[in-house]
Amino acid sequence: MLIAEAKRQAGERSQSLAKRPGQGRGSALNSVFMPRKAHQQGLGSFLPGQSCELFQAGITFLGPHFEGRCKDLELVRKSDADLLGAVVEGHPSHSAIILEAMIHPLPDELLRLPHRTDVPFPKLTTLGVGGICRWLFEPATEPEAQAFVRACARENLQYRVLGGGSNLVVLGDIETPVLRLRFPAELKRDGLKLTAPASFGHIRMAQGAADHGLGGMEYASGIPGTTGGALRMNAGAYGRELVDILDTFRFLTPQGELVEKRPEPGEFKYRWSFLTGGHVGLAFTVKLAEGDRDSIRAQVLENMGKRGSSQPLSKRNAGCIFKNPTGTSAGRLIDLAGLKGFRVGDAEVSSEHANFLINHGHATAAEFAELMEVVKAKVREMHGIELEPEVEIWS
Ligand SMILES: Cc1cc2nc3c(=O)[nH]c(=O)nc-3n(C[C@H](O)[C@H](O)[C@H](O)COP(=O)(O)OP(=O)(O)OC[C@H]3O[C@@H](n4cnc5c(N)ncnc54)[C@H](O)[C@@H]3O)c2cc1C
Repeated sequence: MLIAEAKRQAGERSQSLAKRPGQGRGSALNSVFMPRKAHQQGLGSFLPGQSCELFQAGITFLGPHFEGRCKDLELVRKSDADLLGAVVEGHPSHSAIILEAMIHPLPDELLRLPHRTDVPFPKLTTLGVGGICRWLFEPATEPEAQAFVRACARENLQYRVLGGGSNLVVLGDIETPVLRLRFPAELKRDGLKLTAPASFGHIRMAQGAADHGLGGMEYASGIPGTTGGALRMNAGAYGRELVDILDTFRFLTPQGELVEKRPEPGEFKYRWSFLTGGHVGLAFTVKLAEGDRDSIRAQVLENMGKRGSSQPLSKRNAGCIFKNPTGTSAGRLIDLAGLKGFRVGDAEVSSEHANFLINHGHATAAEFAELMEVVKAKVREMHGIELEPEVEIWS
């Protein structure tokens, strides 16, 4: 009875909504809202026995990511069962809110591009925490990436750009589309110049330079992530940074215009470049120096070895969490505050390097958020210094 009625109502709504201009794009119209608790616990514990039948009846369960779009849902969420009952039995106000919320996820021109939905952020980041990436767009070519940016610009849609996720702490579900380039992994050499697409591994590029007997990129041999992330962050180590060797770079403006240029003063600073706010780095070329292949390779290995002995690389992490305040190191301040080994759940201040917060395997975003707050508060209390995150926080 419950299921038959839900199916009938959903069908009716589909028909009436499909008639409305500009709506009904790329989305299932039959829906039952699934409250957060049920989402976290899995469907098995949610009205046992009925969830499967509802699926078979063609009714889509929505995750909690729609909650943010419909404030009124708070008002109707008395309990899981109440809410489901309200929707299924066709309470007019509730069902309208839910359907409105899911009806226009994204325009068709975006949905035609390669994408996945509901990808867990732990799979997309080195730290391994975070919620769901609701829309993950993965263009395989520059024209596809350009089509993505142009479509977003036309629709006035915000988006985020993801590389290897090695400088990110994600604290929740992300509803805005996320762009992750998946270009063919091809390193091109032209004399002393080496070009890589933005989705190429940064460490792999440094190793590739060594294999070609080209020196100047050894500093990068322990910096994880993609070359796109390195370009955006002007990644560096041992007193060297990408802009030192950067010859040209190619990117999309937030309007989708393709630009190739040489770096100019002010465009790259310490762990920063202007490629923010919807810019998308597509590729870059570095200019290196002819050298002895064996000694360049040896330097690459030495740099990687140094990291292995000073950083907790066997545990998931996002590198240095806080920026070094002027004249001192964040790691030292955290260490002096007695926080090495301090733990919130499965998140811990590393005993090897106090500016690394590590995930022992099952840490949650909430545990990381709490641990970061504890570290900041203790350092403030002991040293009177306000630590700022070096990592980017997505919430
Ligand atoms: C163990 C460890 C050691 C580290 N050591 C260092 C170090 O020595 N030096 C250092 O500088 N960093 C270091 N990092 C931090 C991190 O590796 C760098 O910042 C890296 O360059 C980030 O690249 P990513 O692809 O992972 O970027 P992500 O973490 O995915 O993103 C970082 C930022 O770049 C943006 N972005 C990513 N790709 C693009 C693109 N194609 N176009 C535009 N914006 C983009 C994102 O939007 C975000 O703002 C370390 C991290 C770890 C885990």
